[in-house]
Amino acid sequence: DVPPLYIITPTYRRPEQIAELTRLSHTLMLVPNIMWLVIEDAYQINDLIEDVLKKSRLKYLYTVAPMPAQFKNKTKGPKPRGVSNRNKGLEWIRQNAKTGVLYFADDDNTYDLDLFHQIRFTKRVSMFPVGLVTKAGVSSPIIKNGEFSGFYDGWIGGRKFAVDMAGFAVSVHFLHQRPKASMPFKPGFEEDGFLKSLSPFEPKEIELLADNCTKILVWHTQTKKNEPSLPLDMAKYSNTNLI
Ligand code: UDP
Ligand code: MN
Repeated sequence: DVPPLYIITPTYRRPEQIAELTRLSHTLMLVPNIMWLVIEDAYQINDLIEDVLKKSRLKYLYTVAPMPAQFKNKTKGPKPRGVSNRNKGLEWIRQNAKTGVLYFADDDNTYDLDLFHQIRFTKRVSMFPVGLVTKAGVSSPIIKNGEFSGFYDGWIGGRKFAVDMAGFAVSVHFLHQRPKASMPFKPGFEEDGFLKSLSPFEPKEIELLADNCTKILVWHTQTKKNEPSLPLDMAKYSNTNLI
């Protein structure tokens, strides 16, 4: 039996949501021994999401974790997207999991199944390239002579860990040894803040996957925003979010 994988997926209500979660569920259905933690930025659950999860027959938790109002109501500048959701997932893992590995899988990204096979054996923190991040085209650890030698990313931003949310996995055992680790509500610095909160842990200790970071097994894809549909047109479709 392979070690369990805990997949933390933040999600939020929008016209594309059910399409994204349907696609991700069909990826995860092909992965053995996973627990899917789907956590919605909302005040109440949505039965349509529950339907997608039930239909997948995956083991899952579906719950809510709203973005604090101080951020949600901001009118300018970026918001800390998915942070409450991920912190709630981490809390669940602390209380319910002992072994295995956790991975933050946004609902709109694209995952090669090999990724899940590889991250499952993470001892502490593993990293790998993520495609389609900034105009650089990729975000990845840089490897020189087989060893870690920095981060490649279109925006380094003074970060100690200049990585994308999709570019690392963490062992549950290691998380338990870091009881205060959590993700900050700090747009652009969510990954860096979380990885720093795993201190003591240094970039040179990263476990390099994806053939020493020469393969892209996950893409930070983004779905075009669709117009909210007119409720009158959509009312007869039983699996549509009315916005
Ligand atoms: N998300 C969320 N609340 C929001 C916006 C986004 O929970 O208000 C989730 C979203 O479903 C995704 C993750 O947070 O899983 C990252 O958001 P998004 O994909 O919009 O960010 P981007 O990929 O554009 O950086
Ligand atoms: Mn995204």
